Amino acid sequence: MLPPGSWLGCLGGGQLGRMFVHAAQAMGYKVLVLDPDASGPAAQAADDIVVAAYDDMQAVAAFGKRVAAVTTEFENVPAATLEALAAVIPTRPAAEAVRIAQDRRREKRFFSDHGLPVGPFAVIERAEDLRAAPPTLFPGILKTATLGYDGKGQQRVTSVEQALLAWMSMKQAPCVLEALIPFEREISVLVARGADGNTAVWPVQENQHVGGILDLTIVPARIDGTRLAEAQDLARRLVSALDYVGVLCVEMFVTADGLLLNEIAPRPHNSGHYTIEACVTSQFAQQARILAEAPLGDTSLVQPAVMVNLLGDVWFDAATPMQPAWPEVLALPGAHLHLYGKAEARRARKMGHVTCTGATLDSALATAQRVKQILRIAA
Ligand code: ADP
Ligand code: MG
Repeated sequence: MLPPGSWLGCLGGGQLGRMFVHAAQAMGYKVLVLDPDASGPAAQAADDIVVAAYDDMQAVAAFGKRVAAVTTEFENVPAATLEALAAVIPTRPAAEAVRIAQDRRREKRFFSDHGLPVGPFAVIERAEDLRAAPPTLFPGILKTATLGYDGKGQQRVTSVEQALLAWMSMKQAPCVLEALIPFEREISVLVARGADGNTAVWPVQENQHVGGILDLTIVPARIDGTRLAEAQDLARRLVSALDYVGVLCVEMFVTADGLLLNEIAPRPHNSGHYTIEACVTSQFAQQARILAEAPLGDTSLVQPAVMVNLLGDVWFDAATPMQPAWPEVLALPGAHLHLYGKAEARRARKMGHVTCTGATLDSALATAQRVKQILRIAA
């Protein structure tokens, strides 16, 4: 195990990096963040920062010399950057897993090639691919293969003609067309795998999205026990098939016929923030353990939890900027406020979250509803 006091590297400077920095520092490590923005959420907390673009190979090489191992908090780090670092220090996760997660074409093909359940899809690279799309893909969702997040780079389409128009508006970028899945619920499962191949899976999260952005995460997910076990098993199979080392989040749809994989994130995930207060080991502490080659921590749930995401909208009363009613939120028993230190609140920008814990899921849900009322987040 890397001795505490060693330097760990983090590629990316957003809120996920900030929470990783906090967890790694709690274990006595020092963290060097590489990010193009000198004042982002992770840079504020880091022991030191390298301000550079992710593809500035000279800066990347200098960064690599200063750390004993490196992780990512941002999935669009170029694979070439991870490969260059992997030649000198342990890089968790490896470039190959990140390459798969970065591109929906590779991701969906990986699922189907490994016999993992995925809904109907087609890879779209030419107009002919769309014209040849079978009727079973409509209604569907056309998604750009790369760089999409929080529902960006996606359009719902009901016919080949509409899909062609949508694809033109997406500048004919490589896409996948997916059949619209009539899901009962959306869930995600976090799984960790160490360099020794040991795995640990957290409880299953139920996720509710508003406008393509995560709004609420409810744990444990309100689905039957058999499905819960299947979801955890699927996450374990996936992490082993990828030969993955690190923390991985697997998004799934629960349908009447069973589970379908949606997408994977090669890092801690917004839907896993609840693990900070509600699990024995948080997703960020686990990321630090894996990087340091320490034993995996216990992923058991200590208490039910509901996480409310705080978008920049909370800082506005109609069009007027305002200070949200934090004292009222902080007065609620079991409400844990996290703010990411972002200087400017913008609509739809992730600014923070509140994790509400309770002795029962009902009490955690009631606290989350109060948080939403106080902050005037639509129910
Ligand atoms: P990202 O999270 O990268 O923006 P996702 O593929 O997870 O992209 O899509 C965002 C959300 O859109 C999903 O969480 C889900 O609510 C909805 N969605 C995505 N794909 C489908 C699908 N094939 N059928 C139904 N809903 C979908
Ligand atoms: Mg998603």
